[in-house]
Amino acid sequence: MKYLADTHMHSIYSYDGQMKIEEMVKRGQELGLKYMAFTEHLEFSQISYKQFLNRYKIYSEEIDQLQEKNPNIKLLKGLEFSNPEIYLNELEQVNQLEIDYIIGSNHLMPKKNNKEEILLYYKRILQMVKNGGIDSLGHMDYVRRKFDDSMIPNDIICEILDTLIKKDIALEINSSAVRRKELDSFPSTKKLELYQRLGGSKVTIGSDAHRINEIYDAIDMIDQNDNFNKGVYIKRGFVSLTNNKKI
Ligand SMILES: [Zn+2]
Ligand SMILES: [Zn+2]
Repeated sequence: MKYLADTHMHSIYSYDGQMKIEEMVKRGQELGLKYMAFTEHLEFSQISYKQFLNRYKIYSEEIDQLQEKNPNIKLLKGLEFSNPEIYLNELEQVNQLEIDYIIGSNHLMPKKNNKEEILLYYKRILQMVKNGGIDSLGHMDYVRRKFDDSMIPNDIICEILDTLIKKDIALEINSSAVRRKELDSFPSTKKLELYQRLGGSKVTIGSDAHRINEIYDAIDMIDQNDNFNKGVYIKRGFVSLTNNKKI
């Protein structure tokens, strides 16, 4: 079954977003999408929880209004939480919200192409997934946007993937790798194969769109062999869109 969803997109509610949610929904309608998750950046290095909450209320109301006008497409309220392993109190508070979906992402990039720094990038991710409180791990090897990570031992990658499986957190496949770096995907095909070998199946797929023509970009090229259980999160619960796989 075709995955008619985009689970990673940024509107003007994100500091680097360019699109109004209304325009995004219009584009989603043109593409025939059934699910769209708006995953706005949440950076507690920039804003307080109170500031976030005020903005979240407005965002949430806007989505409710658009949902009423567009009943044939499910609009999902999401967040891309930057480095939740640092903001544990805030993470707990965000988990009390009425929300569909939380992506956890490591945005702290290594400054140098150096094994220790790249290893630290993955250690942060391991800590993040061990803590839980997120639905999906965003663009796991985003570090490849800057540096080759092939020198990183498989142990830590396996430990991250194993923890995802144990904690029932989905692995995001982020298609922005294709347009940003002409790479296969974040994570790489190699890491996706490893995830599958370890028994992982649950994935969400997102374009990480910041512009209108990036919505759903390259998503239909991902996992064409249906190796994974592809789904979306609604009210924090995984809904499979590929019925042939068990949840
Ligand atoms: Zn991100
Ligand atoms: Zn993003």
